[in-house]
Amino acid sequence: MKEYNVIIIGGGAAGFFSAINIAEQNPDLKVAVLERGSEVLTKVKVSGGGRCNVTHAEFMPQELVKNYPRGEKELRGPFHQFMTGDTIEWFENRGVPLKIEDDGRMFPESNSSQTIIDCFLGEAEKHGVEVLKNHAVKSIKHLEAHYKIETTQGDFSAEKIVIATGSNPKIWKLLESLGHTVAQPVPSLFTFNIKDDRITDIPGVVALNVEVTVVDTNLWSEGPLLITHWGMSAPAILKLSAFGAIELAKRDYKFAIEVNFIRQDFDTCLDALKTLKLDLAKKTVFKSTQFDLPKRLWHKLVLASQMTEDTRWADLNKMQLEALAGQLTAATFHVDGKSTFKEEFVTAGGVNLKEVNFKTFESKKHESLYFAGEVLNIDAVTGGFNFQNAWTSGFIVAKAITGLG
Ligand SMILES: Cc1cc2nc3c(=O)[nH]c(=O)nc-3n(C[C@H](O)[C@H](O)[C@H](O)COP(=O)(O)OP(=O)(O)OC[C@H]3O[C@@H](n4cnc5c(N)ncnc54)[C@H](O)[C@@H]3O)c2cc1C
Repeated sequence: MKEYNVIIIGGGAAGFFSAINIAEQNPDLKVAVLERGSEVLTKVKVSGGGRCNVTHAEFMPQELVKNYPRGEKELRGPFHQFMTGDTIEWFENRGVPLKIEDDGRMFPESNSSQTIIDCFLGEAEKHGVEVLKNHAVKSIKHLEAHYKIETTQGDFSAEKIVIATGSNPKIWKLLESLGHTVAQPVPSLFTFNIKDDRITDIPGVVALNVEVTVVDTNLWSEGPLLITHWGMSAPAILKLSAFGAIELAKRDYKFAIEVNFIRQDFDTCLDALKTLKLDLAKKTVFKSTQFDLPKRLWHKLVLASQMTEDTRWADLNKMQLEALAGQLTAATFHVDGKSTFKEEFVTAGGVNLKEVNFKTFESKKHESLYFAGEVLNIDAVTGGFNFQNAWTSGFIVAKAITGLG
């Protein structure tokens, strides 16, 4: 049996962040990371399209939490202890400056996730963290003053353990056998599959500021919308997929959405169209794109409004004007299925948040057992927020374990 003071199960973002901070804050502790794979930090490697979207430039805890469909309430306190500004400083102090992009996402200046991996591996080595790959944890037993951990390469014992296994069903089962409950996992951050003439053959077209509502629900979002080969993507859709993860799974990803492409109400739009009918009387509707819409999208919406390419503004009847106003402000699309958003995807679900003390991220069921990262029922919209959860929980766990918390 190999003995340690602290064992971290899972060599991902949260596992490394807690291991490094524990070992750095208390060099006397013997710390090991057990990773089932032959590589560590594999998600960090592929994250953000290979650039690793480390965090998001949102510096107000009460605003930051709004990006977490699950975890909003629980993360408020933790973010007052460690959040984006601390993340930036942590990486900068270890030679990894971050930069902010226009939409607030933050990446390493190098534009490479390998920089983050190199930083973590270097820091782990510097502080004496043992990283044991190909060690899949099979069982965890809570004995009197320590935990016994059975792995594919022998048994380990530790006084304190950190579960940082991400969205892993086997570990969730194991945690259930230890008395925890787990919210049923469902995918989050996905794009919508839609087959519809109005978006066929125009992949890459972006409407910059739309409103999307899921019909018959109170799910609603706003932001840019991207038309893809399969349907729709970009923040307006991804936010819905995250906030609606459970509701949309219940509907087996078959539902209707209403898109307001110009963020005006129907009557205001209709009045604007009536004015255009007078002002542009001799021009064709098809060729006179309005409302700052992309030309190709305007063409599609015009043709879906009982008109041809030759219809002139002057010739529009009431029905056609109303049809166009309807397409612009309340176009209904039928979603049938989802696709993976390649930049980032996460799982909604995980250890029930009621069973965790968010001052320390310690289990309320087992003393000296802590959680960090996606193993908990916490997940966020796209933009660097999921890693921020890994850093915040990993850091607070470290402080609690080393007695600095
Ligand atoms: C393609 C992709 C891109 C992403 N891009 C971003 C991004 O740019 N920004 C962002 O904020 N988020 C991003 N995310 C989400 C982010 O990667 C996760 O939220 C984050 O990695 C969670 O960290 P974690 O340490 O909790 O879990 P993981 O990173 O999943 O790590 C868990 C580790 O535990 C190990 N493990 C599991 N079971 C066992 C076991 N039984 N024994 C031992 N080890 C075990 C796993 O092998 C894994 O290495 C992305 C996700 C994906 C899939």
